[in-house]
Amino acid sequence: MAFEGLSERLQATMQKIRGKGKVTEADIKVMMREVRLALLEADVNFKVVKQFVATVSERALGSDVMTSLTPGQQVIKIVQDELTQLMGGENTAINMSKKPPTVVMMVGLQGAGKTTTAGKLALLMRKKFNKRPLLVACDIYRPAAIQQLQTVGKQIDIPVFTLGDQVKPDEITRQALQHAREEHYDFVIIDTAGRLHIDEALMNELVDVKEVSKPDEIMLVVDAMTGQDAVNVAESFDTQLDVTGVTLTKLDGDTRGGAALSIRSVTQKPIKFVGMSEKMDGLEPFHPERMASRILGMGDVLSFIEKAQASVDESKAKELEQKMKTSSFTFDDFLEQLDQVKALGPLDDLLKMIPGANKMKGVNQLNMNPKQIDHVQAIIRSMTKAERENPAIINVSRKRRIAAGSGRSMSEVNRLIKQFDEMKKMMKQFSGMKKGKKGRNPFQ
Ligand code: GDP
Repeated sequence: MAFEGLSERLQATMQKIRGKGKVTEADIKVMMREVRLALLEADVNFKVVKQFVATVSERALGSDVMTSLTPGQQVIKIVQDELTQLMGGENTAINMSKKPPTVVMMVGLQGAGKTTTAGKLALLMRKKFNKRPLLVACDIYRPAAIQQLQTVGKQIDIPVFTLGDQVKPDEITRQALQHAREEHYDFVIIDTAGRLHIDEALMNELVDVKEVSKPDEIMLVVDAMTGQDAVNVAESFDTQLDVTGVTLTKLDGDTRGGAALSIRSVTQKPIKFVGMSEKMDGLEPFHPERMASRILGMGDVLSFIEKAQASVDESKAKELEQKMKTSSFTFDDFLEQLDQVKALGPLDDLLKMIPGANKMKGVNQLNMNPKQIDHVQAIIRSMTKAERENPAIINVSRKRRIAAGSGRSMSEVNRLIKQFDEMKKMMKQFSGMKKGKKGRNPFQ
């Protein structure tokens, strides 16, 4: 997970000052030295660090902190505020054109994640804003780049406009926009070429595409794992193209976080999205305040709720509740529930979003292995429909067949059936209690 080292160090520093009833100038000095080192170690740009430390120190030494009843808390609040400001204050939405289509031009170095992000963005726009996106293949140099975009398009069922690799990108763009207008696509995403390093020919080509497409958004895609380099790249692209937004990819990796914390400050351009996985649904709007809370170990409850809401289908949840109440919950329902749990992502990532959960004894060691869920699902999938609906019919020979079919052991099959039976009994007790009937409370 990103920011791990920074998060640990800042939290340790904050811990020392949190409960203090009196904070002296010397305390602040010591704390700020540690904050400075933590940021530098996280590969944050040194000018940004200097400015950050100066601002926090000045505010922390202000009279209202020193005389407050909870100075330690106040100082932490200041650090949180300033971290949020550093990353842009609040979420900046993508620019939309009043007159469709909205045009987004994706730019960035090769390997930064442009093509992947183009697909993710198209999917997000269709899901969240009901848009009809069109992807445009303008990377005519890299072998298989067009094909890669087509594969992405197919995966999410979004059309890709291409004229092959013999037509110049500005001409492709011209024709793509005409096609979009004729066919009523209202969100056009242009995937441009990237190089390993910035060069003049590439920049000239991008300027041409910009002139033809007059984009509402020039989205610079940068790889968060490259740290300081990402900031330099952003500055160069911005000078030439005047970018309007940044997407930071690979924030799910163990990046130290320097790019996320420096880019806004150095370029003055907002981070609009972050890439949190390789999968097509792994693009999230960037919320500086939530990221700051997460770094400081204060959790990110809002993202947690949004994530849960997006993964759970409400009508299905109601249906399930009904089934639990009437004891008609089957192995098929269980299979579906496990899919929803998997869609939420790794459990330890989710736990990090809950304030304090990472410090709770036991909870911080809780680690659900996604493979275990796969094993359970494999066993259920090896059952026949009749068996899933009525596990009571599963005798020894059926169990043997299920074990062989799923590649799991007999004891695992036995355990699952027994646990499922217990789960159903538990559901019965709960629904009984709800209706006011007598039932044993399993927690007593
Ligand atoms: P392009 O050359 O800029 O078009 O980059 P690609 O879209 O081909 O991406 C390069 C690699 O980075 C691919 O393997 C992607 O799957 C991967 N990638 C892109 N975005 C993310 C992300 O947010 N998280 C992770 N883990 N991988 C990503």
